[in-house]
Amino acid sequence: TFARDMEDFYVAWKGENAPAPEIKFFNDDLASSLGLDSKELNTPDGARIFTGSGVPQGANPLAQVYAGHQFGGFSQQLGDGRALLLGEIVDPNGERYDIQLKGSGKTPFSRGGDGKAVLGPVLREYIMGEAMHALGIPTTRALAAATTGEKVYRDAIQPGAVLTRVAASHIRVGTFQFFAARGEVERIRQLADYSIQRHYPHLIDSRTPYLDFLKLVIEAQAALVASWMSIGFIHGVMNTDNVTISGETIDYGPCAFMDGFDMNTVYSSIDRGGRYAYGNQPTIAQWNLARFAETLIPLLEAPDQDAAVEMATEAVTDFSAIYANHWLDRMRAKMGLKLAQENDGALVKDLFQAMQNEGVDFTLFFRALAEAANGNENAVLSLFNKRDEISAWLESWKARCNAESTAPNQRHKAMNAVNPLYIPRNHKVEEALTAAWQDDDMEPAKKLLDVLSNPFEERDRLEEYANPAPADFGPYKTFCGT
Ligand code: AMP
Ligand code: MG
Ligand code: MG
Repeated sequence: TFARDMEDFYVAWKGENAPAPEIKFFNDDLASSLGLDSKELNTPDGARIFTGSGVPQGANPLAQVYAGHQFGGFSQQLGDGRALLLGEIVDPNGERYDIQLKGSGKTPFSRGGDGKAVLGPVLREYIMGEAMHALGIPTTRALAAATTGEKVYRDAIQPGAVLTRVAASHIRVGTFQFFAARGEVERIRQLADYSIQRHYPHLIDSRTPYLDFLKLVIEAQAALVASWMSIGFIHGVMNTDNVTISGETIDYGPCAFMDGFDMNTVYSSIDRGGRYAYGNQPTIAQWNLARFAETLIPLLEAPDQDAAVEMATEAVTDFSAIYANHWLDRMRAKMGLKLAQENDGALVKDLFQAMQNEGVDFTLFFRALAEAANGNENAVLSLFNKRDEISAWLESWKARCNAESTAPNQRHKAMNAVNPLYIPRNHKVEEALTAAWQDDDMEPAKKLLDVLSNPFEERDRLEEYANPAPADFGPYKTFCGT
């Protein structure tokens, strides 16, 4: 539909020829949920498709155009610099998905880049997307990771690789910004209509479809970022070209999960000012949505421009309360609480203060708190050096729990169903990536993917995946655009 209906939004393009295409990872689970035949695709012919060397029958591959604010500065011309939209597929439930290649060679939007991707970062995206999916967080997913047979120069020489990515769509805030910056109101309308049809089709009958559309994107992003915060996910590059209209997480370049709790955590080597630090993510999301709202002002159902600006402003302002509700819902569930009470926000604030002081492992804390729900507080206490503050907090938490009638073992069970034990620990991700690109050993990544596919249920002999990094792992840094 994008190729057919959105002609001014892309350039028809082809992938570069890979000398020796080889599928290294194929996502059987995703393939079958899409109604695709693994036996047909996880083959040498499939390898040609998944490196961009062969075009599937009937496909019209294209590179999409977009703009975007990167670290606050506007770039008028971005676009798929190394990606190709192969086409769309409608799954057995009638849901439509984009199939996109990332790393398939230069396009008219490559600017200075080589259009390629390498195995390490491709695998990071694969692993992170699968982890997020298993955690129940909206995300793009990888269908395949294939090597091209080329060597590609980065910090080190790495195997060239292409990721095949599945997304509800690749329409971004930046797609709207591209036409807004050029004052092309009819193009913005066309894109909004297409987006509504594809992602929010019930709005077609609304009397205020564009305002409603804006509000639903704000809602989707508020819910998404609250879910990130609840599991310690740090996206790392929340530029407006990485904000989807569908509300899916996209672009796993420099992302990582927080280990020790610290609101200021930044892993990305290029985020020197900490713009995209863990604790800044909600504010940045709202800032990005303000940029989105600006693009829709000419479409909003208002008597004049001033009224439209006011409408847009109100919708963006409302993000704060919408986000806060989602976040508090998530936090209550993490603490084993079902009902909303006045002081729940303060309870979380006190907890975070205690955790921040000691940099307590965010993931392990909530698993330990589930033990405390069962009457064993040692697991919590042993995470802290100074215990006064957390002991006092545990007393308030227990009093708060007693305001509800949930039985201890039920609370324990409910908490372990929302607080993961297995997350993509930075040292395990690095270990898997390095084995893959340096030693052509895919087993550590396969094992990690297997562990992460079931993040909540404790299993024997997987301690190394649950434990924090050893001290000698040191401070962690991630890189993007690689
Ligand atoms: P990102 O920061 O990953 O969202 O990417 C920002 C922009 O840089 C997008 O337009 C990408 O297509 C482009 N880009 C990133 N890496 C490359 C590359 N190796 N070659 C060409 N374009 C790239
Ligand atoms: Mg991007
Ligand atoms: Mg990227």
